[in-house]
Amino acid sequence: MKTHNVDSKGFYGEFGGAFIPEMLYPNVEELRNNYLKISSSKSFKNEFNKLLKDYVGRPTPLYFAKRLSEKYNTKIYLKREDLCHTGAHKINNTIGQILLAKKLGKKRIIAETGAGQHGVATATVCALMGIKCIIYMGEVDIKRQAPNVARMKMLGAEVRPATSGSKTLKDATNEAIRDWINNPVNTHYIIGSVVGPHPYPDMVARFQSVIGEETINQLQEIENKSKPDYVIACVGGGSNAAGLFYPFLDNFDVKIICVEAAGKGIDTGESAATSILGKTGIIHGSKTLLMQSNDGQITEPYSISAGLDYPGIGPMHANLFKSKRGEFISITDIDAMKWGLILSQTEGIIPAIETSHAFAVLDKKKFKPNDIIVFNCSGRGDKDLDTYIEYFKL
Ligand SMILES: *Cc1c(COP(=O)(O)O)cnc(C)c1O
Repeated sequence: MKTHNVDSKGFYGEFGGAFIPEMLYPNVEELRNNYLKISSSKSFKNEFNKLLKDYVGRPTPLYFAKRLSEKYNTKIYLKREDLCHTGAHKINNTIGQILLAKKLGKKRIIAETGAGQHGVATATVCALMGIKCIIYMGEVDIKRQAPNVARMKMLGAEVRPATSGSKTLKDATNEAIRDWINNPVNTHYIIGSVVGPHPYPDMVARFQSVIGEETINQLQEIENKSKPDYVIACVGGGSNAAGLFYPFLDNFDVKIICVEAAGKGIDTGESAATSILGKTGIIHGSKTLLMQSNDGQITEPYSISAGLDYPGIGPMHANLFKSKRGEFISITDIDAMKWGLILSQTEGIIPAIETSHAFAVLDKKKFKPNDIIVFNCSGRGDKDLDTYIEYFKL
């Protein structure tokens, strides 16, 4: 049977791999040779699981959304990643990578961030471990995301502005890679999603897979059934989705739905619906689907939610799209914002705008009364309050 997991060369079907400059090869090779050995060791697992429990607050609840289920005449569950420490799933991955970095003897952490969510999750675990932390962030994003910049500084991180190009996420990524090339021995680069060269997509998916594993146990307890009919998540780079989908990837009874940001509409030129608009290319060391011009320049994506505003998707998701294992649905800003309000007023949960995109699927697709649907409630809406205030004139 064909697997939707990574193969021994770091590919998901035709996507993935490690397309990196020669000078980065030793860094990536060190990780590739060690990530499975270290992360499967007993001492690593004990430390990881203990921190997920006592520090992150896992297991996160699997919550049956009663009012929403009645309204849509189906069984809707929410995996409550919004209740994780720092407000989203990203901390699962940064905890895993900081422990790995420590075992590799690294003394310095670098990361890139766009909206600042991954920067905050990285600064948090560096403070936890007392390790030096440098976050690269585009100059434009530093201005746009002032509260998260303040959080990173308060946590003791140094925020370095990327001043080249469009001064946004991809420029911050370039700066981080440059830093890593210059500091190969003492530095670990914490990537925040299932993107980048192999082994990052697989490594991050494994650290996030706790989401799906907990879901199996919790469904067994509540429904006496370990498999849902649908798993649904929003996709920026794809890490919260990969975490929920991971144990079900090759289990075809479980249908997978990936939700992308259509922005102002897929035909408007202001969108981040990569599966529809993207073509195969290489971004951040990985062969995947990405939005590009005819001559192969990466196009600036757009979404009202900063976390989905990425011109590519991870190679696992590109393959889920290509093989049709996953159904891809794109949701506009307008529909996502509407669902931010619906979830708030139906269940008393204010979601991150990224997360709101996933729920909008309920208006696009009909489910059966006995279907068990698990949504990944990837993050809470506190960080988006200003956007909600402005949009709804609250
Ligand atoms: C960063 C973020 C996302 C998008 O990233 P993925 O890697 O696709 O999960 C989604 N939801 C929230 C709340 C985020 O902070």
